Amino acid sequence: MERVTVLGSTGSIGVSTLDVLSRHRDTFELYAITANSSVEAILQQTLAHQPRYVVLRDESSAEQLATQLRRAGSECEVLAGEAGLCKVAAEADTVMAAIVGAAGLLPTLSAVEAGAKVLLANKESLVMAGQLFMDAVERSGSTLLPIDSEHNAIFQCMPGVHRQGLDAQGVRRILLTGSGGPFRQRSVESLASVTPDEACAHPNWSMGRKISVDSATMMNKGLELIEACWLFHCPPERIDVVVHPQSVIHSMVEYVDGSVLAQMGQPDMRTPIAHALAWPKRMESGVASLDLIVQARLDFEAPDEQRFPCLRLAREAAELGGSASASLNAANEIAVEAFLAEQLPFTAIPTLLERVMADVENVEPLTLGDVQAADLQARERARSLVREFGF
Ligand code: NAD
Ligand code: MG
Repeated sequence: MERVTVLGSTGSIGVSTLDVLSRHRDTFELYAITANSSVEAILQQTLAHQPRYVVLRDESSAEQLATQLRRAGSECEVLAGEAGLCKVAAEADTVMAAIVGAAGLLPTLSAVEAGAKVLLANKESLVMAGQLFMDAVERSGSTLLPIDSEHNAIFQCMPGVHRQGLDAQGVRRILLTGSGGPFRQRSVESLASVTPDEACAHPNWSMGRKISVDSATMMNKGLELIEACWLFHCPPERIDVVVHPQSVIHSMVEYVDGSVLAQMGQPDMRTPIAHALAWPKRMESGVASLDLIVQARLDFEAPDEQRFPCLRLAREAAELGGSASASLNAANEIAVEAFLAEQLPFTAIPTLLERVMADVENVEPLTLGDVQAADLQARERARSLVREFGF
């Protein structure tokens, strides 16, 4: 039996992962599930899926959960705090890294350093600490498998040792597809007044609120561009973003002979989750067949960087290297949080990010401490700009 920890089990990816795992109880044993502070949701998951450990980052929520589990007669052990997250990440054979944001970095690294098979949904950890993260993968011999649908698609179209880089595999470029989000066609003037609920209403995917806002600004595609550079040893100029509104093709790889391979499927994260869990084999995910006749059309267009400046900012950060992408990620987390709390207009997100990037220094992060310092500096700068640009 393969022991699996699901970090961020109450989130959108976490719930899909538990769904896939529950279809294969003969192969996978649920070792631990974790969340931030959602006592009720994780209580239900614990009773339904019977993991050995359950971890809440928030200590007082963990105490509440322990009381409720005892009352329900459960023998599952409750742990708390970042130490608890890192422990269950290090002790499993396979770890789904599906915490949202920078909070995912240390638990994910803990799994990597323990040499686990790591299923990476938490793109922010690679964006923040790409070099250190990939060095740790190399050192520990951990198997890193991408869950982000685009990166999972690229991985499927680029079999073999993807760490060797593009040239060794005869790859000319990567075509990173994105739907364009909910505001692809909305008038630019009306963007200033969009609400959090409008931004979170993604046309094709159902996801957590942070990544939904990132999809609406196209910062998600920017973070994915940086993520792809690290995962596939690829310079940013060899990744082209293609807007594909139907989200049927999840990304493509072009070879030097002109072949273009695409991975297609329903926009349902259970496909990449099942792919990575079973890799190098295949297993059922619960996802229905793709009906191309019903689908009928696949459209493609160039991304509009006027409308979506975040995409340009992310590309610039990828080209700059150093701590630039950690700073951009941190500032983005603050800006998105402020937008979701209705303290910042939607269109102020890229303006704020551009200012932070101009103001913070870019250093070469040699340690995790350097990454955290860059993250903190950008957060502080972003918070003061929220006060300046906010409502
Ligand atoms: P979500 O908001 O639905 O869930 C986040 C999970 O992380 C929850 O379980 C929450 O309890 C936990 N969490 C939040 N803050 C935490 C903290 N400080 N400490 C510990 N745990 C914390 O998010 P999601 O949509 O499932 O996305 C998770 C990650 O996967 C993100 O990095 C996202 O970019 C990535 N991803 C998601 C999708 C998708 O379809 N949802 C697709 C590709 C990549
Ligand atoms: Mg994605």
